[in-house]
Amino acid sequence: MEQLTKVKITKHFSIAENTYIIQFKRVFDFIPGQIIGITDKHENPPRLYSICSSPKDEFISILFNLKVNGELTPVLSELSIGDYILITEVQGKFTFNNEPAWWIGTGTGIAPFYSMFSSGQKPQKLIQGARTKNDLFFIKEFESLPDYIKCCSKDSGDGIYADRLTSYLEKFESLPENLNYYLCGSAEMVVDVRNLLISKGVPFSNIITEIYF
Ligand SMILES: Cc1cc2nc3c(=O)[nH]c(=O)nc-3n(C[C@H](O)[C@H](O)[C@H](O)COP(=O)(O)OP(=O)(O)OC[C@H]3O[C@@H](n4cnc5c(N)ncnc54)[C@H](O)[C@@H]3O)c2cc1C
Repeated sequence: MEQLTKVKITKHFSIAENTYIIQFKRVFDFIPGQIIGITDKHENPPRLYSICSSPKDEFISILFNLKVNGELTPVLSELSIGDYILITEVQGKFTFNNEPAWWIGTGTGIAPFYSMFSSGQKPQKLIQGARTKNDLFFIKEFESLPDYIKCCSKDSGDGIYADRLTSYLEKFESLPENLNYYLCGSAEMVVDVRNLLISKGVPFSNIITEIYF
């Protein structure tokens, strides 16, 4: 049986339609990119979430999407400050080794990259994908990066690549082989991008993935 720790919600707010951030006091150390399990009751199996804050922060932030027919996220989205959740120990190996890399994330899959970024780590390029500009979470903070590509599949505007990030990557005849590529998002996105990278010459061993399933 997994060890669960009870923590009190200290912040709870929506940052976009059906997307929330919850915070609670940090009671453990972690490496940016790692995950924890969360549940509302001992009898319900925890769901996994990337930590979306810096290891130096006093609190842990979790960025999540409401799945209306899901088990946990409808409960999480209705919580208030002062309510309790149960968390597992920190786990996961999707951590950044500071070697030259592209970070590629869609939707809430940007969370581990925000944790890395908040702790001072930087990619050579960040490619963020979302449906609309409102779903480009942490856009203001990421604007300080020298090479930040924002792709919106259902939106356009200044500085926005108005298509899926796979279309952005398709444009490259070949891609640098001497970089690591970190991918985080849905299974469909990760598989599509991984296949695309391989077709552009990227060695399989340079692709590091975190799949939200
Ligand atoms: C490593 C990892 C990290 C993750 N990090 C994050 C994160 O940072 N943020 C985030 O938002 N999510 C993250 N996830 C996803 C997260 O763990 C949950 O899967 C997600 O929040 C949904 O949980 P839920 O209990 O609300 O939905 P679930 O009950 O798990 O259901 C998910 C979806 O599947 C559908 N479904 C459920 N059962 C069935 C069935 N039998 N047949 C067909 N459809 C079904 C539901 O309708 C719902 O839409 C991560 C996942 C992994 C593996």
